[in-house]
Amino acid sequence: MTFEELGLLPELLKAVAEAGYTEPTPIQAQAIPVVLAGKDVMGGAQTGTGKTAGFVLPLLQRLARHASTSPSPARHPVRALILTPTRELAMQVHESVQTYGKHIPLRDLVVYGGVDIKPQTEALRKGVEIVVATPGRLLDHVQQKSVNFNSVEVLVLDEADRMLDMGFIPDIKRILAMLPKERQSLLFSATFSEEIKKLADSMLKAPVLIEVARRNAVTETVTHRMHLVDQDHKRQLLAHILKTSSLKQVLVFVGTKFGASRLAVYLEKQGIEATAIHGDKSQQQRSEALEAFKSGKARVLVATDVAARGLDIDDLPHVINFELPHVPEDYIHRIGRTGRAGKEGDATSLVCAEERGKLAEIEKLIKRPIEQVAVPGFEAGAAFSEPMEKGRRGRGGASRPERSEGGRNKPAAPRREPRDDHKREPREPRRIEPAKPKLPKLDFDPSKPYESRVSAQDTAAPEPKRSHHRPKRAVPALLGGLPKSEPDK
Ligand code: AMP
Repeated sequence: MTFEELGLLPELLKAVAEAGYTEPTPIQAQAIPVVLAGKDVMGGAQTGTGKTAGFVLPLLQRLARHASTSPSPARHPVRALILTPTRELAMQVHESVQTYGKHIPLRDLVVYGGVDIKPQTEALRKGVEIVVATPGRLLDHVQQKSVNFNSVEVLVLDEADRMLDMGFIPDIKRILAMLPKERQSLLFSATFSEEIKKLADSMLKAPVLIEVARRNAVTETVTHRMHLVDQDHKRQLLAHILKTSSLKQVLVFVGTKFGASRLAVYLEKQGIEATAIHGDKSQQQRSEALEAFKSGKARVLVATDVAARGLDIDDLPHVINFELPHVPEDYIHRIGRTGRAGKEGDATSLVCAEERGKLAEIEKLIKRPIEQVAVPGFEAGAAFSEPMEKGRRGRGGASRPERSEGGRNKPAAPRREPRDDHKREPREPRRIEPAKPKLPKLDFDPSKPYESRVSAQDTAAPEPKRSHHRPKRAVPALLGGLPKSEPDK
């Protein structure tokens, strides 16, 4: 399947080629024809699958039909609304809108909280067809009457499950109530809980279900490993790993905002360039931290799950779980940033005795055991021989035969396979026939350049730069060849 075969406009094909994409990802191949046909979509896909282009490209094509180069605000009503749970995700989706829409005269804008509202208000008053927004700030604009939804043709709810986690559903419902009933709606979510299904029922009409296999089911290129370590030695072990390996761009996950800052400061003290990103930081601080990480100025980005959600960092080979996530699904979200597009990546978890139950839940979810590797000098102590909390007993823990680093190339000690009742079959996606390449009539002359775009640069915080080219590179084995040394005391 090629992008041409999906029936995209030449202006979009050009933008896609300029972004360096040669073929559509599975979610794109499935979603583009359905969205072009004007149908509602319930999409099961997470970040890293190419889902953004999967909805942005056909959305642009549908809006292109009546795109106008007139300066009059009346000719640029809000026609598409894309809602995201976080500011970072809003910025990234907006960047995609700009990348793919650069040859089509549609105006776009990103609105999120934490920055001055005035430039956003001015841009809205001038008229924009595509608004990417976080719900809270969008409602602020509703309240001050700077936005009108009467002409909305397409609504996209991105990462609906995270919206739910973050308590945005009442805001979403308020926004939904203001939209025209006749519209196309697309909902994307990595997981489909009962609550998400209820939300989908309330906002989608005869949706086509499009699901791409969960990353854990398909990503064989990610190596999972863990080190059992005493809680008190985790920081030292992390510093040891970072100091004794040549790992670049390591995303380290922690459980709390406070823990994120503290750990970044500790690493800095150890001479490791690190920065932290979490919900309490201002938008500017978050953008700066992300930029420092992407540019390579900071080797390590310490993040909480919420802050890291949706971060689109190209070419990220290493994820370290300093703490295991509370919810096993978040393990999959975390590693969703590594091993993308068939490249190799690795996920290392530092597991203390109290986390054995969580480890068991994660192994059950990803349907594979995580290889345990001992780092000499950091082996876990007595806490691991204590019995686990009732109800949280899993396959992790001290009973597992530990392998020393010297023996890492030997076959793993036999491990029990996950039980059959854990092996849920992935739902069969409905078969989608490719759309016939019937191009819409355009109201503008695509051969003429146009300058009349209102962009986020005019109105909001600077966006992270991103390369769409994905150079292939060899990924060093995370702990391969680590010299033996003692923990820092
Ligand atoms: P997303 O899942 O939308 O966050 O996309 C993940 C990453 O895949 C982004 O960096 C995109 O630039 C990239 N991407 C999207 N579509 C393609 C494609 N067809 N080929 C290669 N990379 C892509």
